[in-house]
Amino acid sequence: MSRALFAVILSSICGIYSAAAQQNFSFTEAMLTAAERSNYERTSTFQEVVDVIDALAANTQLMHRERLLLTREGRDVPIVVLANPPISTPEQAEASGKPAIYIQGNIHGGEVEGKEASLIVMRDILYGDKRHLLDNQIIVFVPIYNADGNDAMSQDNRPNQEFSPLFTGLRAAHGYDLNRDGMIVEADETKALYERVIQRWDPDLLVDLHTTNGTWHGYSLTYAPSYHTAGDAATSDYTSDVMLPAIQASVRDKFSLEFNWYGGYNYRDWPPTELRTYHHAPRYITNNMALRNRMAILSETFSHDRFYKRVHAANAFVEEILEYTNVNGAEIQRINQEADARVAETSIGQEKGVQFLMVPREEPLDLLTYSYIPYTNDAGEEDFVRSAELVTIPDVVNYNAFEASRTAIVPSAYVFSSAFAGLADKLQEHGIWVEVLEADTSFNGEVFIIDEIGKQSYVQNGHRNSLLRGEFRSETRSFSRGDFVVSMNDRLANLIFYLLEPESDDGLAYWNLFDDYLEPTLSANGTVEYPIFKVR
Ligand SMILES: [Zn+2]
Repeated sequence: MSRALFAVILSSICGIYSAAAQQNFSFTEAMLTAAERSNYERTSTFQEVVDVIDALAANTQLMHRERLLLTREGRDVPIVVLANPPISTPEQAEASGKPAIYIQGNIHGGEVEGKEASLIVMRDILYGDKRHLLDNQIIVFVPIYNADGNDAMSQDNRPNQEFSPLFTGLRAAHGYDLNRDGMIVEADETKALYERVIQRWDPDLLVDLHTTNGTWHGYSLTYAPSYHTAGDAATSDYTSDVMLPAIQASVRDKFSLEFNWYGGYNYRDWPPTELRTYHHAPRYITNNMALRNRMAILSETFSHDRFYKRVHAANAFVEEILEYTNVNGAEIQRINQEADARVAETSIGQEKGVQFLMVPREEPLDLLTYSYIPYTNDAGEEDFVRSAELVTIPDVVNYNAFEASRTAIVPSAYVFSSAFAGLADKLQEHGIWVEVLEADTSFNGEVFIIDEIGKQSYVQNGHRNSLLRGEFRSETRSFSRGDFVVSMNDRLANLIFYLLEPESDDGLAYWNLFDDYLEPTLSANGTVEYPIFKVR
């Protein structure tokens, strides 16, 4: 070997070594996660998460802790707020001018990577090399959102991850899928999320950390923005067209990890020509955020990777998201606030979607995936077996957007009888302002005459959802003092619209709120009037 070449190799090795040496922070043993201590054979119990947070809190002024909720089984689920200078109230957060970024782990109790990664991110910020992430933002963590689900650990809760780790929690909380509860808000966790995080801290970006259930794509992590559907497009478009591509590139540069759009394909149509995402509906927490003019990212680590790799991918993603928001937070705030103003001022009279179809994005993608080999099985039929080879399939059509298949006109207000006090309470759980009529008033507008209630064929969270069919009819209608009015001159107009429109594919009617009221009259008369009046 020439002396010059030897010198080059030596200096590059030294360079690598010194960079690594700089990352030897001094963490105490109590700051290590259960996953790290067990060589990634175990994931943390609720108590072990709290123990690590206690250890992290011991020597810092930058952490503020609050209660998210006391669960049905008695777990006191924490919200952890990191800020520099420290804060303890939303008023202080607002006065700082910094955006709040919300990181949520473990909504599905068996999908544990975000929980582990959140603890590592907090540790890196407080005691490692990520302190600068508090320069321009306030970070709100709920590392273990579904605490009761997490602790219901057993060996067979996650069949797609090949026993890595051996024990994980349950997806649901007491049989309830928390990521389908964004509209009807029945679970204690969802009520707490809306009251204690979304309304209290008003985060500009929500990051919801999951793990996939199946597809053998070739990515360490897949992601999706909040699908805007009836929402203002600006927040979702910025997330998908600007923020996520920048983070995808930085993760590739710094960690040599490949992240891409979320989706699945049918391997029986090998090679795949299209990748299809999940669903637009705002019962999913990330989609719900678009109706509030806020950004959100769905994160899905790859279930077939070993556990340590999944934790690393979630950790890299969250830290790179926070690197991005630390630099671009002011722009994110501006886009969200402009959407607030636009929705409040210009929604009334517009035609907006109430039902949606999945459509392709303009740009196809080159899909990195494990390949499938066709063969003829013993019954003489063509089948496919997955190989261990990673291949890139060019020009796969990317179904990661939605467009309206049915629309309705946004009214200036919705009015309903004082007999529906439960409806008023439900709207208030979303943070929606409900007024009470001070005098008898008559309104020009529309009623919706229902001639059919279509019941969905499947049950979710105990509901067989109802899709109302019928038509609008112009009317003048008198309401009494004490009845309820919801004005659409409001930054939450898109959320109100999606909740209250009779034909909405994820509204309160869809979640059976009016079935008991509607069904007897419908079966007796053949038609029934929807109980919410639209003011023109
Ligand atoms: Zn999930």
